[in-house]
Amino acid sequence: MTASALVDAVLRGDAAAQRRAIAKAITLLESTRADHRVQADELLTTLLPQTGKAFRLGISGVPGVGKSTFIEVLGLYLIAQGHRVAVLTIDPSSTVSGGSILGDKTRMEHLSVHERAYIRPSPSSGTLGGVAEKTREAMLVCEAAGYDVVIVETVGVGQSETAVANMTDMFVLMQLPNAGDDLQAIKKGVMELADLVIINKADIDADAAMRAEAQITSAMRLFGLVNNAMGGDQAANYDKLWHPRVVQLSALHNKGVDVFWDAVTQFRTIQTSNGQLAARRRHQSLSWMWERIDAGLKQAFRHDPAVSAMLPALMAQVENGQLPASTAARNLLAAQSEPTQAAIK
Ligand code: GDP
Repeated sequence: MTASALVDAVLRGDAAAQRRAIAKAITLLESTRADHRVQADELLTTLLPQTGKAFRLGISGVPGVGKSTFIEVLGLYLIAQGHRVAVLTIDPSSTVSGGSILGDKTRMEHLSVHERAYIRPSPSSGTLGGVAEKTREAMLVCEAAGYDVVIVETVGVGQSETAVANMTDMFVLMQLPNAGDDLQAIKKGVMELADLVIINKADIDADAAMRAEAQITSAMRLFGLVNNAMGGDQAANYDKLWHPRVVQLSALHNKGVDVFWDAVTQFRTIQTSNGQLAARRRHQSLSWMWERIDAGLKQAFRHDPAVSAMLPALMAQVENGQLPASTAARNLLAAQSEPTQAAIK
């Protein structure tokens, strides 16, 4: 299939043809072959004007918190409202061990076979940065194909949460009711990313869920994420800003999904009218560009013949304390021969 036929099928194919075309396009994006990358760049550039209309929702939580149960009921709820839903996954375990936390079991049984849903597992190899890049590009393909809600799911470990927060409009953290019992467990870094916290499995222990809600809300206040009541001009501005929220839910019993989606809709309305949503996307695009430049330069640097010839000896000298790290870095940078050309490949 030529690139333009592929674009055409992604944009206008009937349901089955479009699904095949999306899968093909994403496989092309994930390929490491240089000629495929050229085609993939062309494809993305052509599709780009058709992207950006979807709402991009990031969801994270530890294994077992109920992510796939929740995404299944949320996806079906949204489809019933007329949406088309794409679910993409970033599985950090696949980048470390080649194994998978998220992919081993049958997940989202009903959603995965629904014709108005598209589910794609995590790319199974590469660095986290590389996997995140592929996922971001896959998101654009799904948007061009008309999916108007794109969910990006990840596991609450390592850097993958930051990666997902950096590619979505809204980042949602899922917690268990007992998580609030130990405030130590609420990491400031992750809380800062969250636009909304879900306490799932509220059905197991209603009291614990209430406690968790109160504790997480007050922890967020402590971190300054939720502002206390303000007076005067600040009070006027208060309504124009989104303040992170905590929502109780039982994904298993399909309870609270509507309350959750109401909050998402409010988030979208507020952040659209105050300009934050557009600003977030602009910032994400630019920081993405710089991240890929950094990654490309670093890779080119490591593969530079002059650098790789010098590298083992200098690393040993730095390790043994014979050479200051900064001097070694400067010598290596000075030795690099053709930085720019190699970085493009
Ligand atoms: P994931 O690893 O985060 O995707 O979690 P799963 O969605 O696979 O859920 C893990 C387990 O928790 C499964 O046995 C689910 O049936 C169960 N579970 C998910 N949501 C709820 C809930 O709201 N209440 C209860 N009681 N169990 C739940």
